[in-house]
This record gives sequence, structure tokens and C-alpha cells, in this order.
Amino acid sequence: MKALVKAKAEPGIWMERVPVPEPGPNDVLIRVKKSAICGTDVHIYNWDKWAEATIPVPMVVGHEFSGEIADIGSAVTKYKVGQRVSGEGHIVCGICRNCRAGRGHLCRNTLGVGVHRPGSFGEYVCIPEDNVVPIPDDISDEIAAIFDPFGNAVHTALSFDLVGEDVLVTGAGPIGIMGALVAKRSGARKVVITDINPARLALARKLGIDHVVDASTQNLADVMKDIGMTEGFDVGLEMSGAAPAFRDMIDKMNNGGKIAILGIAPTGFEIDWNKVIFKMLNLKGIYGREMFETWYKMIAFVQGGLDLSPIITHRLPIDDFQSGFDAMRSGSSGKVVLSW
Ligand code: NAD
Ligand code: ZN
Repeated sequence: MKALVKAKAEPGIWMERVPVPEPGPNDVLIRVKKSAICGTDVHIYNWDKWAEATIPVPMVVGHEFSGEIADIGSAVTKYKVGQRVSGEGHIVCGICRNCRAGRGHLCRNTLGVGVHRPGSFGEYVCIPEDNVVPIPDDISDEIAAIFDPFGNAVHTALSFDLVGEDVLVTGAGPIGIMGALVAKRSGARKVVITDINPARLALARKLGIDHVVDASTQNLADVMKDIGMTEGFDVGLEMSGAAPAFRDMIDKMNNGGKIAILGIAPTGFEIDWNKVIFKMLNLKGIYGREMFETWYKMIAFVQGGLDLSPIITHRLPIDDFQSGFDAMRSGSSGKVVLSW
């Protein structure tokens, strides 16, 4: 089959011919229809320090996908050929304490599709039966292909009760924007999103987020005053991975505020821990999606009318993958979805 392969330990990604994966007894082979490019794929493309330390080459990458079941292993009982599906890209061990307790997202032995094992930038991807998620008929292939990052947004946003709360989202990348939309739908009072990139700020405005703030020119304290906030934010969703954004968030939280942190900083950075202590803040790190409660909620949000399609700014045939990666690397695109 054709696949986008991280073939060499240097920047770039290459279209090559590789064998179709062989499903084991408990695996499902999926013919990929759409696969979206994640920020992680950009790290792998750029071959940064994280990629160098993590990705064995050669590797078929990609982990945001939707498609149709093409074959099933001999022991698979829950699914059949022809079903429309997406899949959870974190493969958990099933035997650690958290897995046994039904908390797979907390597994200490998680492996990533398209990171540690072949991924979805191929004509076919193979995943364990337990990772398959059937997609209802009223959800399109392209929306199902961005369920992985949408799940990051849903997992982060639903970490804390949002009803009546004032919510600050730092970072209006695709995940930050989706997180802000989910916060609003979940009953938040004010939702404020910040970024420093004009294209991202424009995308957030296009999606109808109430208060879009350019952190490079506007003072968040002034904005809070203008919109009638007298105390501070109740909930923060950190979706930028940027130290200045996180520090500003800590400053602008109310006492007892809760922060869910998804953004990954390229290097370690300092914060004023005394502010965390004296404001009695509650910080929670987020990785991936809850298995499979987040998937259930995602499907419910989309079926309930949440329209994510404007977040997809580029729809390209797989052979145009280079334009797709260029768009992602520009830092100004929304989601880029490649079609087979
Ligand atoms: P993205 O890089 O597209 O978006 C981050 C945004 O933050 C950008 O638009 C950038 O302009 C903005 N930003 C930079 N500096 C800022 C500042 N000072 N104030 C406000 N905004 C600022 O990323 P994404 O795909 O939307 O993902 C969001 C974050 O979540 C990234 O850091 C990503 O690495 C991380 N992530 C984490 C997980 C996880 O499981 N923890 C999964 C997926 C993504
Ligand atoms: Zn485990």
C-alpha cells in the first residue's frame, strides 16, 4: 500500500510503498478514508529533539483518522467488515492498576498509533478491537477524522464543572477553539480566548467565540473589566503551551480557580508557585482522551449540533500532503484533512 513514512532521521516525510499491516487475532484493519495532520506529526516532520528521542524510523505516522473496516482478526467479535469507524490512538496495557480500574487514560504503559507503531497516513491502519469507535451515520468522515484532537478539547474542557463559570482559554489553535466552543455549550458564563497570531484570532472570531483577545496588543485585565468581570476566571483551559500565556492565566484566576493544562511547552519554564498556593489554585494535567467516556461525549456534542467543520481550513488529496504539512507548519491553518 501507499503510505506517508518517516523514512529518515531528518526533516521531511515521504510517500512510499509498504506492506499492508496484518491484523492479529484481536485487531481490526481499517481502510483509511480521511486522516488529519496533528501538531505531533509536525514535530515528527521537523525532526525536533522530542521526535528524535521518540520515533523509531522508518515509521508510518498519523493518528487522526476515520475509515471503514476492511478486515477483522479471528477473535474479533464486536465489529464487522464495512462498518464506519474512527479509533482511539492511545493503546493501553490493560493490566496496570489504572487500566484494571477502567481508567485507561491514566495507563502508565500507553503506546501511540503513528508514534510507536504504524499509523493512519497509509491506505490501511491496524488497531486493537478495543480501540475501535464506530461512527454514527449522521457524522461525516472528516469530522470523525478530527475526533482525536476534538477529544483533547472535550477532555480538557469537561475536567471541571463549567455551569455559570467564567472560562479563560489560552491558545486559539484548533484544540483551544474547540475547547472554547465546548465550554460555551456546557453552560459557561463568559468564555474568553487568547492568542497572539492574527490568523488564529480570526478563526476564533469566525467560530463565534464571545471574547477573542489578542494577547500581544490587549491587556487581559482591561478586557475582563470591559465585559463585566469583577473577580477572576473560575476555570482556565491552557491550550497554548506558551509560558507567558500560562503565567497570565495564573494571574487572572479567581481564588480557588481550576486550571486544566493540555498545552505542551517546548522547554521547561518557571511560574510563581506562591500565586498557585495563595490563590489556592487547582491544577490538572491532561493527556489524550478518557477511554471511552470522552468519545461518547464528543459524538453527543456533534449530534447535538456543534459544527466543527469551519475548523477544517484545508481539505487535500493525500498526494498533496506536502501542501498540507506546509500549511500546518505555517502555524496559521486550522485542521488539515487529507483524503485517500
Ligand atoms: P497549536 O500550536 O495549533 O495552538 C497553540 C496556539 O497557542 C497557537 O495558535 C499559538 O499562536 C498560541 N499561542 C502562542 N503563544 C501564546 C500566548 N502567549 N498567548 C496565547 N496564545 C498563544 O496547537 P493545538 O493543536 O491547538 O494544540 C494545543 C496544545 O495542546 C499544543 O501545545 C499541543 O502540543 C498540545 N497537545 C497536547 C495533547 C495532550 O494530550 N496533552 C494532545 C494534543 C495537543
Ligand atoms: Zn495500563
